[in-house]
Amino acid sequence: MKVRVFDTTLRDGEQSPGAAMRAADRLRIARALDRAGTDVIEAGFSAASPAVAASVAEIAASVTHSTVASLARAVDGDIHAAWESLRHARAPRIHVFIATSPIHMEHKLRMTPRQVLAAVERSVRSAHTLCPDVEFSAEDATRSERDFLVEVFQTALDAGALTLNVPDTVGYTQPHEYAALISYLREHVRGSERAIFSVHCHDDLGLAVANTLAAVRAGARQIECTVNGIGERAGNCALEETLAAMRVRQDVYGAEVDFDMAAIPALSRMVARATHMPVQKHKAVVGANAFAHESGIHQDGVLKHRATYEVLPAELLGRQAARLHLGRQSGRHAIRVRLEQLGYAFEQSEMERFYQSFLELANTKREITDADLRVMANGIPEGVAQPA
Ligand code: MN
Repeated sequence: MKVRVFDTTLRDGEQSPGAAMRAADRLRIARALDRAGTDVIEAGFSAASPAVAASVAEIAASVTHSTVASLARAVDGDIHAAWESLRHARAPRIHVFIATSPIHMEHKLRMTPRQVLAAVERSVRSAHTLCPDVEFSAEDATRSERDFLVEVFQTALDAGALTLNVPDTVGYTQPHEYAALISYLREHVRGSERAIFSVHCHDDLGLAVANTLAAVRAGARQIECTVNGIGERAGNCALEETLAAMRVRQDVYGAEVDFDMAAIPALSRMVARATHMPVQKHKAVVGANAFAHESGIHQDGVLKHRATYEVLPAELLGRQAARLHLGRQSGRHAIRVRLEQLGYAFEQSEMERFYQSFLELANTKREITDADLRVMANGIPEGVAQPA
């Protein structure tokens, strides 16, 4: 079964404090997402400002494969702004949202549940007259009352929204709970088999990816995520982690995803640069250390058989191979292999001497580089093989 990738790096991702991107960077990222096979690119919230609307329009006109979405509150002004910016998209989508939790309806919208339902119906109909592809989001769905949510989604579906998004706006839900909610909605919204249930998770409790995956198991068929997991507060569901989990554990999810994972490292760097948000070294999948091994035992294992300590093949991401970080926890095996790659071969006794000087240097330096190895190897007069 197919799971659609909806990337919101350019909308929710850009809502990371301080992450505003230049229009040229936004366009470059959209093109890279398009080439990678992203099903839907949410390019922005057009009503936010004329500059955002112009950028969405530019992206809409240049994307060739992906559907391009613009977010809109459930009011006519926003819906028209979204549509204006999407006019030239090959496949446009208007994404309408309104909050449905008691706390948001009462304190933020100051609307009664009946008024919210009426707004859902009116706004989805109005979006649908402009654009056949309408997505509806019930903001703060995970803190909404279940049966009210059923009514809300029923109304949205009947008014023409065929993608029904169930956002965990504040990163509050737990995996088993979220899965149960998706199942409940699929069961209770009449005609729900015509709709695609979508999930949108935030990482406030560090569960965005886990919640997304739990929802996929429960029948969600669109995942909303961002490159490097950037987004409001603690961020959104990380695209690269979710895709890696679905790929490595195909046996669990059975999901077909049309996304070229080899495009991920470049996308990650592009987004990090454009947002001035560097990726932490130990970040899953895209961190500098994600495929680096430090301890002697792990390095020895990986050299004998990669799968001993790696579940995600580096080649899947277009990366060459595991990186063995040479430092004071490294063992003889990894050092010997690296020396051989650099063209040096030592006899057993020379290797022992080399290893001792390696350890001395490693006590004063975090990482022993290839240049360090060459200097040390060239300093050992006898038995040094000619560099290949
Ligand atoms: Mn969000």
